[in-house]
Amino acid sequence: PRQSRVSHERNGMRVSFEFFPPKSDEMERTLWESIERLAPLRPHFVSVTYGAGGSTRERTHATVKRILDATPLTPAAHLTCVAATRDEVDDVVRSYVVAGVRHIVALRGDPVGGLGTAYAPHPGGYLNGADLVGGIKRLAAVEHADIEVSVSAYPERHPESPSDAVDLDMLAAKVDAGASRAITQFFFDNDLYFRYLDRVRARGITIPIVPGILPVQNFKQTRVFAERAGASIPSWLADRFAGLDDDPATRKLIAAAVAAEQVFDLVDRGVTEFHFYTMNRADLVYAVCHLLGLRPVASPASAGAAATAEAAA
Ligand code: FAD
Repeated sequence: PRQSRVSHERNGMRVSFEFFPPKSDEMERTLWESIERLAPLRPHFVSVTYGAGGSTRERTHATVKRILDATPLTPAAHLTCVAATRDEVDDVVRSYVVAGVRHIVALRGDPVGGLGTAYAPHPGGYLNGADLVGGIKRLAAVEHADIEVSVSAYPERHPESPSDAVDLDMLAAKVDAGASRAITQFFFDNDLYFRYLDRVRARGITIPIVPGILPVQNFKQTRVFAERAGASIPSWLADRFAGLDDDPATRKLIAAAVAAEQVFDLVDRGVTEFHFYTMNRADLVYAVCHLLGLRPVASPASAGAAATAEAAA
C-alpha cells in the first residue's frame, strides 16, 4: 500500500490551512511564525476564522489583509451572519472586495446563547448559510468582483439538523446560491466521510467536499470541540491518548501518527485535497504535509514577505 502512495505524492496534492485571528501579542507571534513555516508548502489558500457572533470582525480583517499584503498566500476570510444585519454583513463583504480578497468562507454561525440555545436569525439579517452565500454572490456581481465562496459540510450532520436529508437540503441550497466548495467539520472515522460523500453525490451535489483535518494538538480540548460540533470521538482515539495528560512530548508523536494514518487512508481512497485546522500551530501540519509529499518551495517573494511581516509586527 505504501508503494501506491508514490504516484499520489506526485499527483497534485492540494492543501489549505485554517488559522484564527490572534488575541494577544504573543498569539500574534505564534500565528506569524506558523504562517511563515507553512507558506513555502504553497497551500491553495489559507483561511482566517470569524469569532463567535462576529466578535473578531476587525481582527479577522486585519489578519486577512496582512496575509494579502505581506505574503504570497491567497487568503480566504470566514464570515458569519449571526447577530448582524444584512447591511453590516454587506459592509464587511465590501471591505474585503476593496482590500482585494476574492474568497469568502460563508457560515451562519452559532447561536449567540451558545450550545443548546436555538438559533434565531437577526431580524434584519441573513437567515442561514445559504441566504448568506446568495447575499455575497449578489454583492460580488454588483461590485464586479469574482468572489469564490466556500461553505461548511457535516459528515456527521449538523447538531441542529433533524435528519440527514434536511442537512443535505441545506448544503444543496448553499450550492444553488453559488458555493463552489464545501469544507467538512473535522472527523476521525474516515468511513463517516465516505458515507457522507456518497449521500452528497446521490443528492446531485457535485462540488468538492474537502475533508477538514484536525491534528490533535490537545486531546482534552478536542473532546470539548467535538462535543460542541456534533463530531464523534471514536473509542480507539481516546485509547491512544489515554494516560498521556502529563506527557506532551509523547502526545505530539501520537498526534502525528494519528493524523498521518487518517490522511494516508483518505489518499488511498482517492482524496487529493485537504483542509487543515492548524490551531495556529505549524509543526504537526507541516509534518503531515511532508508525508503527503509536499516540499517547501523557496521563493524570493516569500522571503521578502517574511521580512515585511516581521517589520509590520
Ligand atoms: P448552515 O449551513 O446555515 O446550517 C447548518 C445546518 O443547520 C443545516 O445543515 C441544517 O440542517 C440546519 N438548519 C439551519 N437552519 C435550519 C432551519 N431553519 N430548519 C432546520 N434546520 C436548519 N463558526 C464561526 O463562528 N466562525 C467561523 O469562522 C467558522 N468557521 C467554520 C468553518 C468550517 C469549515 C465549519 C465546518 C464550521 C465553521 N464554523 C464557524 C461553525 C459554524 O458557524 C457552525 O457550525 C454553525 O452552527 C452552523 O453554520 P453553517 O454555516 O454550517 O450553517
